[in-house]
Amino acid sequence: MPHRTESDSRRLLRRLRDALAEAGAGQERLDRITTIIADSMRTEVCSVYLFRDAQTLELCATEGLNPEAVHKTRLKLGEGLVGRVARNARPVNTPNAPDERGFRFMPETGEEVFSSFLGVPIQRLGERLGVLVVQSKDARTFTEDEVYALEVVAMVLAEMTELGAFVGEGAALAPLHKHPALLRGVCAQEGVAEGQVWLHEPRVSITRLVNDDSEAETARLRAAVEKLRVSVDDLLRVARSADKEHLEVLQTYRMFAHSRGWLKRMEENVMLGLSAEAAVEKEQSAARARLETVPDAYLRDRLHDLDDLSNRLLRLLTGQGNDTGAEMPERPILVARNIGPGELLDYGRKLRGIVLEEGAVGSHATIVARALAIPLVINVPRITTDALNGDHIMIDGSEGQVHLRPEDSVASAFRDKMAMQAKAQERYASLRDLPAEARCGTRVRLMMNAGLMADLPSLKGSGAEGVGLFRTELQFLVRSTVPRRSELVALYARVLDSAQGQRVAFRTLDIGSDKVMPYMKRPDEPNPAMGWRAIRVGLDKSGVLRMQVQALIRAAAGRPLTVMFPLVAQMSEFEAARAILMREMERERRLGHVLPARVEVGVMLETPSLAFAPDSFFELVDFISVGGNDLKQFFFAADRENELVRRRYDTLSTSFITFLQQIVARCVASGTPLSFCGEDAGRPLDALAMAAIGLGTLSMRPASVGPVKALIRRAHLGEVAEVIARAQVRGLETARPALLDYAASLD
Ligand code: PEP
Ligand code: MG
Repeated sequence: MPHRTESDSRRLLRRLRDALAEAGAGQERLDRITTIIADSMRTEVCSVYLFRDAQTLELCATEGLNPEAVHKTRLKLGEGLVGRVARNARPVNTPNAPDERGFRFMPETGEEVFSSFLGVPIQRLGERLGVLVVQSKDARTFTEDEVYALEVVAMVLAEMTELGAFVGEGAALAPLHKHPALLRGVCAQEGVAEGQVWLHEPRVSITRLVNDDSEAETARLRAAVEKLRVSVDDLLRVARSADKEHLEVLQTYRMFAHSRGWLKRMEENVMLGLSAEAAVEKEQSAARARLETVPDAYLRDRLHDLDDLSNRLLRLLTGQGNDTGAEMPERPILVARNIGPGELLDYGRKLRGIVLEEGAVGSHATIVARALAIPLVINVPRITTDALNGDHIMIDGSEGQVHLRPEDSVASAFRDKMAMQAKAQERYASLRDLPAEARCGTRVRLMMNAGLMADLPSLKGSGAEGVGLFRTELQFLVRSTVPRRSELVALYARVLDSAQGQRVAFRTLDIGSDKVMPYMKRPDEPNPAMGWRAIRVGLDKSGVLRMQVQALIRAAAGRPLTVMFPLVAQMSEFEAARAILMREMERERRLGHVLPARVEVGVMLETPSLAFAPDSFFELVDFISVGGNDLKQFFFAADRENELVRRRYDTLSTSFITFLQQIVARCVASGTPLSFCGEDAGRPLDALAMAAIGLGTLSMRPASVGPVKALIRRAHLGEVAEVIARAQVRGLETARPALLDYAASLD
C-alpha cells in the first residue's frame, strides 16, 4: 500500500467537488462518490450509511458490496461496527473486522470477504448524519493520515447531505437533524406556542468547501485568525472593568485564539484541500463531538467558548454577519444559547416563544419574557445545534417541553392542548369584571406584578385591581447607562397615568444578586443572593435611592404614592430608608414641587428575621408585602436559581404555611395591611391556600389573575383552612395533596 500523500487528498476532494457539480439524480451522485472514494483510498469497498430515523441507519450507497443491499440493509444505533461509529461519533479502524467486538455480519451485503474496516462519522457541527466506511480484503490497519483523510471526506459529504444533494426519488434519506425531536428543559414562563425557529445567531452557511490553492488558502486562514486575535484583544482592553465572569470568558477566547494547536489542525485541513471555512468548521464539529462526552461542566463551558470563537472566525472568513437576509417567519420562536434583556426587548412582542440552551429562572431575560408574557423554556440541551432556521417548533412553557419538527400526531395533540388553553383563557376573560369572591363571601384582592411599560396594558385586560409590585430595577437592567432622573419621572408618571387611579406599589431598586447592571461596579461576592443587594445597596450608596425617590414624588404630582423597600432584614434598615424618603419629601416641598396626596411606605418581607421584628416595627410600617421568592429561599436555605434544590421544598409545606400564619397573626394584631407578591401567588392552588390563611391581597403576573380568580370563586375559604389545619394536626409535611383533592372535589 503506497503512502497516502496530501496531493492524493486534494485530488480526491476536487473529484468529489466535480462529481457534485454534475447534473443527475441524488442516488447516482452518491453511487459515483462511493466509487471515487474507494478508488482514491485504494480500497475495494466504500459505503455510505445514513440515518433513516434517530435510531436506524440505512445503507444508502456502496461501491464493492452487493448493490441489492442498498436501501435494504439497516442497522440500529450501536449495532455492529457501523452502529458503533454512529453512536460514539468516533472512527473505528480495524484490520480484522469479524474479530472485532460487536461485529455484526450482514450476509445480504456480501461483506464477509472484507477483512479491514475503517468507519468515520458523517457529522456536521455535532449533528450526526451517518457513517462513511471503507473496507478491503487485505488485513491492514489504516494509517492516521488515511483516517484523517476519510474524516475530511466525510465532512464534505455532510455538507452535501445537508444540501439535499442525494435525496433522490424514493430514497429514504433523512439526515438526523431533520428528525422530530422532543427536547426537555425547565419552565421559565408558562404558555404554549407554535411557530418556526428563528435563530438569534444564525449559522454561517458555507458554500465553498474545497480550495483550489492550499497555499493561498492557508494565507487566507492565517489572516482571518490574525484579525480574530486583534478583535479579541480589543474586546479584552475594553472589558477591563467588566465583571469577572465576562473577563474570564474573554481570556479563554484569547487563549484559544492564540492556540497553536487549533491553528495547526485547521491548517492541516486546508493542506488536505478544504477551504479555510470548511477547515474551521471541521475543527468545530470535532470540538462539538467532544463536548457531548465531557462530564465536567467547566470544561464543557470552555468548549462552548471555542465554539463561539469558531463562529466569529467563520463570520470573518465569509463576511456573513448575523443578518443573513433571511426573513423572520410569521410566528417566530426565538432559539438562542442565551440572550440579554435588552436584546429580548428589541424583539418585543413579535416573538411567540423563546427557547434557550442556557438561561436561569430568575435571570433578567426571564423577567423580561415574563413581563411580555412570552412562553419561555430554558436549559434545553443542544437546541442551538439541533434547530435550523424555519423549522416547525412547538413549545410548552409550563412543562418545559420543546417539540422540534414534530410528527403530525404530536402536532395535532399539541394543538388540542393549545385550543384547551385558549378556551380556558376565554373563560377567565369572562370573569374579568367579577370579583375574586369565594363561595363563603370572602373577597380576595388580586393585583398584578409589573416592571416594564409593556406590562401596563395588562392591568385592564387581566382584571387585576392594581399593581402590587412594580419592579423598578427592570428599567435599569435593560439599559447600558444609568437612567436620568427626568427619564424616571416621565416613566413613573406614565405608569401612574395608565393605572388610572388604581394603586401601584413601586418597589425601590432591587439590584445585586442576579440583577447586575453593567454600568455599576460591584464587589466580587461569594454569595450574591445573600450579599450586597437591594436596600443594603440603597442605604450604603444612597445617591441612586434618593434620585429614585425624588422621581417617584415628582411623578405622583399630587396623586397618592406607594413605595416599598426590598429585602429589609431588620427594623433599623426600614427606619433609615423611610427617613431618606421623608427627607426627600421635605426637599421636594422646599423646591416647590407638589407633594403626593398621601404616601404609603411599606416593606417587602423577604427574610425570616423580619417576621420576628419588634411590635413597634409592625406598627411603624404602612404595609407589608411578603416576597415569597426570596423568603422561601431563605426559609428553606434553597437557592431560588438552583434547579437542583429549588424544587425540593414546597410552598404548601406545613412548615412554610405555619410560618406565613405567624406573619398574618402579627399583622392582624398590629392592624398592618399584608399582601403576598412572590411567584407562588400566581399558582391557583397556592393562592387559594394563602387566601385561606388570611393573606387577603395577592399580587401575581397578569396571566395568572384569571386562573387564580376562577379557583377562588369556586372554593369556600373556611373549608380550605380546615384542610390545611387537618394536615398540620396530622403532622403531614405538606398540605398539597389534600388541597389538590379538595380542589378536584369542587364543581
Ligand atoms: C420575591 O422575592 O418574592 C419578589 C417578589 O421579588 P423578586 O422576585 O424581584 O426578588
Ligand atoms: Mg425578592
